[in-house]
This record gives sequence, C-alpha cells and structure tokens, in this order.
Amino acid sequence: MSSATPRRLTILGSTGSVGRSTLDLVRRDRAAYSVDVLTAYSNVAELAEQIREFEPAFAVIGDPAHYAGLKDAVGGAPTELASGKEALIEAGRHPTDWVMAAIVGAAGLAPTLAAVERGAMVSIANKECLVCAGDIVMAAAERANAILLPSDSEHNAIFQVLEERNRDGVEKLILTASGGPFRGWPRDRMAGVTREQALAHPNWDMGAKISIDSATMMNKGLEIIEAHHLFGLPEERIDVVVHPQSIIHSMVQYRDGSVLAQMGSPDMRIPIAHTLAWPKRLHFPDCRLDFATLNDLTFAEPDHAAFPSLSLARQALKTGGSAPTVLNAANEVAVAHFLEDRIGFLEIVAITEAVLGGTQIHPVRALDDAIAADREARAKTDEEIARRTGTVQRRAL
Ligand code: NAD
Ligand code: MG
Repeated sequence: MSSATPRRLTILGSTGSVGRSTLDLVRRDRAAYSVDVLTAYSNVAELAEQIREFEPAFAVIGDPAHYAGLKDAVGGAPTELASGKEALIEAGRHPTDWVMAAIVGAAGLAPTLAAVERGAMVSIANKECLVCAGDIVMAAAERANAILLPSDSEHNAIFQVLEERNRDGVEKLILTASGGPFRGWPRDRMAGVTREQALAHPNWDMGAKISIDSATMMNKGLEIIEAHHLFGLPEERIDVVVHPQSIIHSMVQYRDGSVLAQMGSPDMRIPIAHTLAWPKRLHFPDCRLDFATLNDLTFAEPDHAAFPSLSLARQALKTGGSAPTVLNAANEVAVAHFLEDRIGFLEIVAITEAVLGGTQIHPVRALDDAIAADREARAKTDEEIARRTGTVQRRAL
C-alpha cells in the first residue's frame, strides 16, 4: 500500500507477539504508515528500541516502576513518555487512524474502549476485552462509528467471508481449532503436563497466556464469545471443528448449503495485514500455500470430555450478564498461577469452573459493572487457589 498520507498507527501491546508481527509488516512499507503511539507493560529494552526505530509521538510503559528506566533508555528522543493505567487509556485516545489492540487480557479493555469511543479503526486481537465487556465495546463502536477489524485469525477469516448483503442467509459460523498440543490425549494423561509442554503450540508462535489457553482449549471457548459479539449470532449457531493443520482459519455456512472458508499459512501476519491495510490489501510475499503438497486437511469433533472449557464458555455465554466476565477473569488468574508452577494443568479449568459456579451473576450495563465483576472474580480465584494450595496470593487487575 502506498498513498500520499501515511496511515497513523497506535500499537497497544507493541512488545508482544501480535505487536511485533504488526511492526514487522509496517517495516516493509514505511512510507504507508506512521507509528504514532506505542505501549508496553514492562519490557523497557524492547520498547526503547521500538521508540528509537519508529519515533512515535507518544509511548507508554504500563508499569510505573519502569518509567525512569524507559526515560534513561531512550535518552533524548523527542517521544513524549508516560506510565500507568491512565496513560494507557490516553494512548488509546491519542488521535490516530488505526489502532492495534494487542494488550493481553482484561487489562486491554479500557485502552481499547478509549480507541473505540473516539471512532477509530480498531484491529481487535485482544479477545478478552470482548469476552469481559462485549456488549459495552460493541455499543460504543456503534455510537462512535468505529470500525472493528478482527485480527484473531478465526474472526478475521469470518470477517473476510461474511457476506454483509446476505446476513439473513447465514446459517452458522464454524470456528476451526487446531486442538493444541494435547489433541487426542485422554484427560488423565494431561494431569502432569508441564508449563513447557503446555507452551509448545504445534502450529502458532504466540504469547504465553494464549498458548496455555490453546492447550486447555479455553481459547476456543473465548473465541465463541468473541464471535458472538463481533458477528451478532447466538451461541448455538457458532460451531467448533478441530482442524489440526490450521490452514482453514474459519468458515461461514449459508442457508443454501454453500460454505465459504478463508485459508492461509498459520502466520498471524496474514490476518494482521488484512486489518492493517483494510479495505485494501498489502503485499506480503512470505507465506504461500502449496496446494500440490497440501493433501491432508482433516476435521473432527472437539473432545468435550477431555476439554471441558468449551462447554464452560458456552454456558457462560448462555447465562450472560457478568458470567463471561467472571469466566475470563478466573481463567486469567488461573493461567498466571499455572505459569508460575503453583497449580496443575487440569486445575486451570477446574478452578475457573468453581469460581464461575460460586459467583453471583449481575447485569453488565456499564464499564464499571464489568470492572467490578472482573475484580470480584479475581479475588475469588485467588481464594480458591489458596484453598487448594494452602498459599495466599493477591493480585490486582
Ligand atoms: P503477549 O503476551 O506476547 O503480549 C502482550 C502485550 O501486552 C505486551 O506488549 C505486554 O507488554 C502488554 N501487556 C501485558 N500486560 C499488560 C498490562 N497489564 N497492561 C498493559 N499492557 C500489558 O501476547 P500476544 O500473544 O501478543 O497476545 C495479545 C492479544 O492478542 C491477546 O489477547 C491474545 O489472545 C490475542 N491474540 C494473539 C495471537 C497470537 O498469535 N499471539 C493470536 C490471536 C489473538
Ligand atoms: Mg484465534
């Protein structure tokens, strides 16, 4: 893409896997894009390097403890620097054309919402913000005429093949799932899996949290909720099919029997590129499918007994109100504890289920309702983990 005025970009979560992939694409056509805002949480060295390379107007380090370090690291660069939660929201508000929402977890909600509320084009990788407060984000987008461009690969696939003019003709959405590193394993064999085994995704190279979510298949559960909000279909019209090769990224089935699928190599730069240049297409020559060798695409039903996260997420979506918010918060805390070797792999979903079952569900009408439900669920998850492990850990959003 080349045009007279470069598209001005904000990258929330620029030091993460999605953030880096976005900058990799930008590097290939520097004239088409200007990187105006970058944010990270604690990776000072990488953020400082990105600031030197892209010279944004504004950059934020989420953790205030790293502000002084960032200032030192960037030296006299003209970029305005800030830190803390409010500054992350300010980053979302900064007037740019296009925002990559790639902070991981519910921590991305407020900055992403700030971008949506000012009517930006927002590439949504941060699925947790939709799981946590989907109705609020979608209503804000509608009010502000924001354009939400899904960059999660499944949702990007659906976005590409969903015929807007034939919305009435859509029968169902079919999300594909790789099945993760433990596909085909019986449940009892998963009890002893290590952090390293769970982090080793067969097809995608991703951040730690989403890699664990893929291993428990909670990722697909969160994606059902994400698809419900983005495309407005009820839970029972969103199917999941296991497709271990990750070549078809998702499909839309129409009333007349046609199924439209989007295909591509399992490289996040492809869906990100689609949202970055949207509605145009940018030149990304690196990954091409070779149909001469692509002769074993397979599909299977998910194993619900081995992966109860899928039914749990469906149940949360059907319950509505704060249930998905609670599901998401409990899962985030449980995953963090698993990554710190404090709980076992199977406990991630068991704890999430216990917290969801033991929490009163309220309506979520405003952002504060979502934040309150998220906070309560985090505290309950900490309690549940302390009860199981005999240790007490407090963590705030
Ligand atoms: P990551 O862990 O690699 O990066 C996360 C980014 O968020 C980092 O820049 C980090 O500094 C920042 N961050 C973390 N905690 C923060 C906080 N509390 N406040 C502010 N910033 C914070 O994650 P990722 O794999 O790039 O995933 C990002 C999002 O995109 C997730 O929601 C994930 O589900 C989604 N996603 C990722 C992929 C992928 O391939 N990695 C694919 C689809 C969707
Ligand atoms: Mg996905």
